[in-house]
Amino acid sequence: MKYVGAHVSASGGVENAPVNAHEIGAKAFALFTKNQKQWFSKALTEENIAGFKENCKKYGFGPEHIIPHDSYLINLGNPDPDKLKISRNSFLDEMRRCEQLGIQLLNFHPGAHLKQISEEECLDLIAESVNITLGKTKGVTAVIENTAGQGSNVGYKFEHLAHIIEKVEDKSRIGVCLDTCHTYSAGYDIKTEEGYKKTFEEFDKIVGFKYLRGIHLNDTKKEFGSRVDRHDSIGKGLLGEEVFKRMMNDPRFDNMPIVLETPDDSLWAREIDWLYGLIS
Ligand SMILES: [Zn+2]
Ligand SMILES: [Zn+2]
Repeated sequence: MKYVGAHVSASGGVENAPVNAHEIGAKAFALFTKNQKQWFSKALTEENIAGFKENCKKYGFGPEHIIPHDSYLINLGNPDPDKLKISRNSFLDEMRRCEQLGIQLLNFHPGAHLKQISEEECLDLIAESVNITLGKTKGVTAVIENTAGQGSNVGYKFEHLAHIIEKVEDKSRIGVCLDTCHTYSAGYDIKTEEGYKKTFEEFDKIVGFKYLRGIHLNDTKKEFGSRVDRHDSIGKGLLGEEVFKRMMNDPRFDNMPIVLETPDDSLWAREIDWLYGLIS
């Protein structure tokens, strides 16, 4: 079974996210549990927490189909020790918010080396950051998102994801989220039938489908291998329709949140409907 949704607004309180998701016909959703442009936000209130849980129950969203995204400021591989410390504290705060809300997954962008250290050193710092955070929390899985490889971001190769996983001590609480826009921009040709087959075979060999916890379903404005991260609405970008049809009929993507991060939120209900219509 496919669980398709979108990264919905939590404006006015996290308890509004499941309502917003329900309104567009979503079966899964992503959200920010705090302002994504700030290091720290005010703590969740009892009212936020109870309201969130109540609305998830009311609209049938199970914890396995909710995948929050962490703040854009966080860089768990920052070579600057002071900045790394802020990132780690902020990430810990994000994970504790998930614990409070009964959420089991937390999606994060791995990090960037800022041209000051090697990719490998950056990946090692990220794994260390994850180990520290997992050691202080319970029940939430850290989900690494693959990147387009823009700027000095790591995580654009499956090998990078595998490197982090290998160094994380608690393998039961580390996972991966694949973003279709990032995958294509990073140079994995999921657009063609042959490229699709090869990409996911490679993913299975290098990372393993057992670590896959979620999908970000986006079309892309930028050409293959551009290493530039520009999402587009489904069917309007360069990916075309075939890849989405293949994914919607591929059982390897069953029972996990498949989340739209497409730019026009007024299209989400239609995009979700269209995606479900692709299932044969
Ligand atoms: Zn994404
Ligand atoms: Zn992106």
